[in-house]
Amino acid sequence: MNYVSTRGMCPVVSSAEAIKMGIAPDGGLFVPESPVAVDNQLLDKMLNMSYGQRAVEILGLYLTDYTREELSDCTQGAYNSSNFDHPDIAPVVHLEGSTYIQELWHGPTSAFKDMALQILPRFLPRAAAKTGEKGEIVILVATSGDTGKAALEGFKDVSGTRIIVFYPEQGVSQVQRLQMVTQEGGNVAVAAVQGNFDDAQSGVKAIFTNTEINSSINSQGYIFSSANSINWGRLAPQVVYYFSAYLDLLKEGRIKSGEKINFVVPTGNFGNILAGYYARQAGLPIKRLICASNSNNVLTDFINSGVYDRQRHFYKTLSPSMDILISSNLERLLYQMSCRDHGRVREWMKSLTAQGTYQVGEEMLESIRELFWAGYAGDPETLATIKNTFDSHGYVPDTHTAVGLYVYDRYRETSGDETVTVVVSTASPFKFNGSVARALLGDAKVEGRDEFELLATLASVSGLEIPQGLKDLDKKTVLHSTVVKKEAMAEQVMTFLGIGAGA
Ligand SMILES: *Cc1c(COP(=O)(O)O)cnc(C)c1O
Repeated sequence: MNYVSTRGMCPVVSSAEAIKMGIAPDGGLFVPESPVAVDNQLLDKMLNMSYGQRAVEILGLYLTDYTREELSDCTQGAYNSSNFDHPDIAPVVHLEGSTYIQELWHGPTSAFKDMALQILPRFLPRAAAKTGEKGEIVILVATSGDTGKAALEGFKDVSGTRIIVFYPEQGVSQVQRLQMVTQEGGNVAVAAVQGNFDDAQSGVKAIFTNTEINSSINSQGYIFSSANSINWGRLAPQVVYYFSAYLDLLKEGRIKSGEKINFVVPTGNFGNILAGYYARQAGLPIKRLICASNSNNVLTDFINSGVYDRQRHFYKTLSPSMDILISSNLERLLYQMSCRDHGRVREWMKSLTAQGTYQVGEEMLESIRELFWAGYAGDPETLATIKNTFDSHGYVPDTHTAVGLYVYDRYRETSGDETVTVVVSTASPFKFNGSVARALLGDAKVEGRDEFELLATLASVSGLEIPQGLKDLDKKTVLHSTVVKKEAMAEQVMTFLGIGAGA
């Protein structure tokens, strides 16, 4: 399988090259040159397989320059019982009636980013070797919280790689900060930036594109690469769990072979739900993909009107991992839905940069709306949904998952569609325990208590166990206390790599 850019201005590349490069040189995103096909025979074959074995089958269709043995090594290294605290890796649980929840947060950092960031670090060094790259890969990450920790856990002690994470000093939660500054591993570095997330992000981008720094690190045997969500190596592993959910329902007799189901996906950068689109393109019987947003409802408006308009108020919500106004991965959907018209994709993206908005035509909007349905939940609805879900079904969703559950209720009300539906759960309730405890117990009971006290409170109220990675976080040794000014990030990278006194 070869990969082309959504903007059509650069040559086709292999899957290994697409993963190594991350983003296409013309500024577009890499997409498969043609759809893959999962037929009934392959579905049957995967029915009784483990999650990791299913992953080998699906990934094998997309990452064709990796051998089966390499893919087995990668999946075994990623999806095993020392990384995931559930034997099914991405278990599907029954909520009520025809509604199921797929839990994607049993990995080391308690958020769905682990599903891809446990395996990308295993693809990357192999991608480098396949493309004749000799240098050691240095992953640079700017994070607003979840991605940094998931990338650190994924790349920790992976040979041939180093990882450097910058987070905004004041911009992350207490749990998120401690998750990062206590990170172990011989190839990891973490620094706080005196600034906000945008400062950290611009600093990292400037380092990536600085030719002087690049040639300086290249001469020392290093190359930069990226682990962010536009890398195809993060998208392909996400296609797997859509198949896995379907196969689990089939195996348990909850659906019949060939029966169509819906998925509800709490969405920010459009990466997760786009993997659902690719699963459907590969032949998975999906009826509707329901796109759930918080108050940053730019995607709700787009799917309902065809107008994408980022010029609006930015809200800091209780589901912070979805606080985003530019959903980068939507570009891939535009490409697919416009029948691979890269000229039009270029125009839309140009308009987004220049005017902050673009509009798709009536016909394309219609085909998007046949497949997608979109809605959003504000913070009060999110908190109420957590409480109702616990009171009615004894299930505690996190804030992001609650957005999905709320939007699904609106979908059912509007459409009357009672098709079997899987709500994708993207984080453990313990990861956002402050908000979840507030929803369950009320403001008065959580007032003035820190996030660590609340972990225990939430455990006793819900009867759930605190995930290993979050337990005793406040008692772990702080290993990373570097704080840098935003102007000094490049120098800090050189120091971490032991090159000069900062070139
Ligand atoms: C990243 C994230 C999302 C959003 O996923 P996208 O792929 O960006 O749409 C939702 N929930 C949680 C908990 C996340 O960490």
